[in-house]
Amino acid sequence: MDTGREAAITPEEAVSTTEWARSRSRSVVSETVERLENVGEIDIAEPAVSVSIRVTCEACGRSYTIQDLLAAGGCACNRERGGTDGE
Ligand SMILES: [Zn+2]
Repeated sequence: MDTGREAAITPEEAVSTTEWARSRSRSVVSETVERLENVGEIDIAEPAVSVSIRVTCEACGRSYTIQDLLAAGGCACNRERGGTDGE
C-alpha cells in the first residue's frame, strides 16, 4: 500500500532532505580536497568547501533556494501569468 508514497512530502521534509544532501556533498568534497592535499596535488592552508543548492526555473531563469521556493509557493513567473494581484 505504498502507492503514491513518494509524492507525499511536507515542506519540512523537503528542507531537511535538501540540507542533508547539501552537508553530505560538502563533506564528500572536503574529504576529497583533504586527500588531494595529502598526496601533494594541491597546497591550501585552510580549505573551506561550500555547497549551495539552487533550483532554477528554466522558463524565466530565476533561481531559488528550496526555502525561498517554498516561501514563495513557486516561481514568480507563474504568478505573473496567473495575475492574481490585480496587475
Ligand atoms: Zn519562472
